[in-house]
Order: sequence, then structure tokens, then C-alpha cells
Amino acid sequence: MFVDTATIKIKAGNGGNGAVAFHREKYVASGGPDGGDGGKGGDVVFVADDHLSTLSDFRYKRKYAAENGANGSGSRKTGKKGQDLIIRVPRGTVLREAESGAVLADISSDEPFIAAKGGKGGWGNQHFATPTRQAPRFARDGYPGEEWEIKMELKLLADVGLLGFPNVGKSSLISVVSEAKPVIADYHFTTLTPVLGVVRMGPESSFVMADIPGLIEGAGEGVGLGHRFLRHVERCRMLVHIVDVAGSEGRDPIEDFETINKELAVFDPALTACPQIVAGNKADLATDEQLQRFRAYIEGLGLEYYEIIAPICEGTQALMNAVAAKLATLPPIKRYETEAVPMDVLARKKDTGFRIVKDEDVYYVEAEWLLKILNKTDPDDYESLQYFQRVLETSGILDALVQRGIREGDTVSIYDMEFDYVP
Ligand code: GDP
Ligand code: MG
Repeated sequence: MFVDTATIKIKAGNGGNGAVAFHREKYVASGGPDGGDGGKGGDVVFVADDHLSTLSDFRYKRKYAAENGANGSGSRKTGKKGQDLIIRVPRGTVLREAESGAVLADISSDEPFIAAKGGKGGWGNQHFATPTRQAPRFARDGYPGEEWEIKMELKLLADVGLLGFPNVGKSSLISVVSEAKPVIADYHFTTLTPVLGVVRMGPESSFVMADIPGLIEGAGEGVGLGHRFLRHVERCRMLVHIVDVAGSEGRDPIEDFETINKELAVFDPALTACPQIVAGNKADLATDEQLQRFRAYIEGLGLEYYEIIAPICEGTQALMNAVAAKLATLPPIKRYETEAVPMDVLARKKDTGFRIVKDEDVYYVEAEWLLKILNKTDPDDYESLQYFQRVLETSGILDALVQRGIREGDTVSIYDMEFDYVP
């Protein structure tokens, strides 16, 4: 089966913990803090790979984690960085945050996408010495790596989608106009992977044509199969609709044409606006009367029409010229814009656990879930700070600080944010 969606969990590496250590040397009574920092956790990175054409690898492995950073150690030694995890996906894969459906990235270009950032390493106690705190026994834990559930959806990148019933000659056409070599069979053969062919029009000009597996396979029998494959034509700039003009399998070409357009409209009404050029294939098997009747019907609809005999390249060049000319007037392939993951989804991801470490008059607050919110908090924006304040209240962190004996003027340190406590 052709797999074009998958949901996986990804987890970037945690940063290594900072070390608490003190400089030791023979004959030196007590040295200063020299605990090293933890190493950064590895990122989870998505890249496009043109050797892949399905998401089937992701059906059997659903959890992906990058390496954690190593802990720091004495003598200011920083822990080793965790290795990035590279996930290869077919070009055209759209990544969404699973819960909200927000688009995180459209993996269409060669640019790698960091989907989950590795946590920074925690600071060793070497950083926490101040004139009044000379022997800090506090080191920071590594920052957690980001975690996401990701829904992947393959939306092929093709300029032109081939539309048509099984056996009308889609594979035959793509095999004679491009380098693609699909299986051509005289039975209702369902290809397992989409076939993309590059059609070269000249040294500088070419376009990509897609023969989509299972497209409307069986729809004519009222089964309505193949709908899910239609998502692959959503990105296409135009469609070439191939019809067996001879009705060589006993169907009526006009009915075929209408059935398929109905299926398109049911799937997504917007697709009916996608420009179509119609190709009447198997012209060699058709009578003059059949040819005239179908041509009159299509041209009556105001559509461009070409008669072809795909296997012997009859009429195919004229068809390709028309396609290229049409494409020149159309906007480029649709790219999916990145969308923000809603705040409430981020907040719901939180487990509400936290840790407070007190070292003299500094209260270090650590909580994995808080980091994500903190990263989205803009300290220069009043509303954003208000939201953050509310989170501290509702999560019980403020109460816990009071229980630990915090007093006005003490310092609250939450990762990169540090502020004076005001009751
Ligand atoms: P697809 O299912 O739409 O991809 O159709 P194929 O390209 O696999 O073709 C189905 C069958 O029709 C094969 O046996 C082809 O050889 C045959 N065929 C395709 N185009 C023509 C044509 O123009 N004339 C004739 N006589 N046979 C054709
Ligand atoms: Mg085929």
C-alpha cells in the first residue's frame, strides 16, 4: 500500500547537567568552583530526500529521539554535545503539530528544518559564583530537548497531475514524454508509489508530471476509492485529464470524464478551478464518429483538447507544448506557510511538576514545561508577561516559593529569566 501519512513522536536530546565541583590541588586548601557545563542535546532535523517516495518507513518506527548531551565535570570540562538526528522524508512532505494541525514546515526545498531543538547544557557551578556567593553548591540541570508529536503528510511536488480511469493510458503517456519508467499493464494495475516524470521541453525548460497511484481507482464502480490519493493533486498547478476516447473497455468516454470531475469536486471543490487540458487517448481504436463526438463535447465546454496515441507518441508532443504554454501562465507550485502552534496547546503539553533549589537568597525554579512557555514569552510585552505571571500562579510555583520562605528582594531565577521577588 502506498503510505502518504504518518504520525510520529520526536524528542530532541536533553542538555547535559552542569557539574558541582571545586578546584583541588595538592597543598591548596580550597579552590573556587570549577564545575563544567553540560553539553547541548542533539536536534531533530528533517531533510528532503529524493530517493524516497512514500512515508512507509514511518509506519513501523514511530519514536525518534536525538542524543542527549553529556554532563559537565570538574576542571571546567564541558560535556560532549549530543548528536543530531536526521529524519529523511520524501520531498513535499508537510509537517504539522499533531494536536492543533498547525503547519510546522513544508519540506519542499533543500533547506533542513529543525523540528525539535536540543536542550542547552546546564551551567556548572563555576558560573554561579558572585562576590557574596563564593562557593555555590548549585549547578543547573540541562534544559530538556523539545518534544513534539508530528503528523506528516506527503503532498507531491508536481506541476501537472495526470487524471483518469485505470487503463486509459496514464502510465503510457508519462513513459513516452519523460524519463519515468512506470509499469504499463492491460489490467487495472495499482502502482504502489507515485511516479514523477520530468518532461524536458528544452535546455532550460522542463516541468514535473505525476502519475498518481490508485487515483480514482474503482471510483467508477461507485466504490469511491482513491479519494485519499487526491490530496496529491492539491498542489498541482494543472491537470491533464486522460480519457479512453475509444471506450475500449465498454464505458462511455463522456461519462468517464464527468465521473472523474464529480469525484474531484466531492473531494475538494477548489480542485474544480484547477485548469485542465483534456487528452483523448487510444485514438487508434476509435471510430471517426467517436472521435468527433468526444471532441465536440469537450470543446463545447471551452476546454483545450488533444487526440493522442500515447504508446507511439502520436500527438503527445503537441499535448506537451500546450501544457508548457499553459504552465507559463500559472502561479508556481503551492507552498504551505508555517503556522504558529497555539499557546493553549503549548500550555496543555505541560506536566505541572517543578523543582525549586534554594542557594542562599536565590531561588532556582526548574520545570521542563515552563521552558516552552518561557521561550514564547516576550519580556517587553505587557500581555505576554501577564500571561507568564498567571502561569506561575496557577501552577503553584508562587505558593511553593512562599513556602520555602522567599522574601521581598530575593532573586527568582527561571532559566534565562531572573527577577526580584515582590509579594
Ligand atoms: P494506466 O492504467 O492509465 O496507467 O494505463 P496504461 O498506460 O498502463 O495502459 C493500459 C493499457 O492500454 C496498456 O495495455 C497499454 O498498452 C494500452 N494503451 C495505452 N495507450 C494506448 C493507445 O493509445 N492505444 C492503444 N491501442 N492501446 C493503448
Ligand atoms: Mg498506470
